Amino acid sequence: MKGKLVWMTEPLKFEVREYDLPETIEPDAVLIEVLQTNVCGSDLHIAKGNLPHLRCGGIGHEVVGRIVKMGERRTTDNAGQPVNVGDRVVPTYIVSCNNCSYCLQGLYSSCLHSNKYMGKQNIAPYFHGATYATHYYIHHDQYFYKVPEGITNQEASSANCALTQVYSAIDKANVKPGDSLVIQGAGGLGINACAVAKERGAKVIIIDTVDSRLELAKRFGADHVINMEGLDLRGLTKRVRELTNGMGADFGMEVAGVPAAFSQGPHLLRNGGKYIVMGNISIGQKVEVDPAILILKAIKILPFAGYEPMYLYKALQFLERNVNKYPFNELTDAAFTLEEVAAAIDKSIKREVTRATIVVNQ
Ligand SMILES: [Zn+2]
Ligand SMILES: [Zn+2]
Repeated sequence: MKGKLVWMTEPLKFEVREYDLPETIEPDAVLIEVLQTNVCGSDLHIAKGNLPHLRCGGIGHEVVGRIVKMGERRTTDNAGQPVNVGDRVVPTYIVSCNNCSYCLQGLYSSCLHSNKYMGKQNIAPYFHGATYATHYYIHHDQYFYKVPEGITNQEASSANCALTQVYSAIDKANVKPGDSLVIQGAGGLGINACAVAKERGAKVIIIDTVDSRLELAKRFGADHVINMEGLDLRGLTKRVRELTNGMGADFGMEVAGVPAAFSQGPHLLRNGGKYIVMGNISIGQKVEVDPAILILKAIKILPFAGYEPMYLYKALQFLERNVNKYPFNELTDAAFTLEEVAAAIDKSIKREVTRATIVVNQ
């Protein structure tokens, strides 16, 4: 039997290729059929060719799927919950091998093998390290968790990236009740971050240039939204101070993926503020920074990439608790097929859609 996989032949050029599905799988591995997979900001960086080591091959990493085959030793997910063929699961898209020098220190998100299967779609079992496909092979060194009942595919589809990344960053930065958080960027990460921070009791301010994204952010718990179109840094800083008793925010969070956001962020914080930075993952992009601002304001920079795998389990529990409180089912706002991946990416780059989703075996 064959499955289909979207192949990027060069930046922004895609074709659907067919490969044999694995007949036998490793004892601890699992094969899922993809139900839904999203277009995330980092996929756009990859699609544009901004990540030099991933300029061709498979693409995609946010996914929810249904188990179609299990290795002979596999009986549970990584939380010990029994799993069977037919169950819906979400995998971590990065590998945490448990054996390398970083994993042994508990730094699972820095695992030396984290991107082991990315760009390897020409090597059997083909359906790994990329989710814009009919199937996805979860290797023994990837974690996966069962999707709680009552959560739709659409709601679960952002869990393994956007939601878990911001959940782990906000948890590790220790945002507490009463803290103020200013979020730069109302894309998938920023909107999920509104709900996570709100549930921790924080006051949430979010900045973007697109009103529809800011409207959605409000429904995800943002207390204040700022459309920065036409505002210079001085105007933006003034607006944030007005909303934070003249002080500036306790926490900042850069999830815009725009280098300029990094140079603006520290200005929006109070002295001693903490600045969570996550959005700029394309190496080589430069921006001017005023180092004196960081020193004189004693700003702490907290960079986060990836997450420890157990945070995906916590994020799914968060989703289960809050799925009726926030409109997670509206986080993806345009559906495409595998054959339409080029259009999904194009509309996402032009910001005509907030988060495109690719619906596969449904
Ligand atoms: Zn490792
Ligand atoms: Zn992502």
